[in-house]
Amino acid sequence: MRILIVEDERKTAAYVKKGLTEQGYVVDVAHEGLDGLHLASTNNYDLILLDVMLPGIDGWKVLESVRLQKQTPVLFLSALDKVDDRVKGLKLGADDYLVKPFAFSPNCSHGFRTSFAAVRSSRPPCTASPISRSTRSGTACRAAARGSN
Ligand code: CA
Repeated sequence: MRILIVEDERKTAAYVKKGLTEQGYVVDVAHEGLDGLHLASTNNYDLILLDVMLPGIDGWKVLESVRLQKQTPVLFLSALDKVDDRVKGLKLGADDYLVKPFAFSPNCSHGFRTSFAAVRSSRPPCTASPISRSTRSGTACRAAARGSN
């Protein structure tokens, strides 16, 4: 399974990449929106982990542009945890929304795996229903991250 991480915080990107690589995923990293969009356009990923606040073009724009060409599953990865932001991400066609900070504790990597499995098995059309799924995994990850910082 090949995953693209678009994240400008290099430490976060390296940390997520390490966690996923250890779980057997093949991981590419882009640190800017345009680079991420380029990689997403030229390669076929099974999943894109997309930060919202990026230099150049932001995650919303990256997702919009990717969706014009492909239906690659996208999980937003963001420090923005307002409900409005989640709704915006999901409306634009994201498959889930994970709120930073998170950690690769057993609970949280389970959360990641669950999300991966969900987006792999079926890519639901973008409706209001994924909200609870997204809220649940975001909460689980935040809870798991507490104490590890
Ligand atoms: Ca960022």
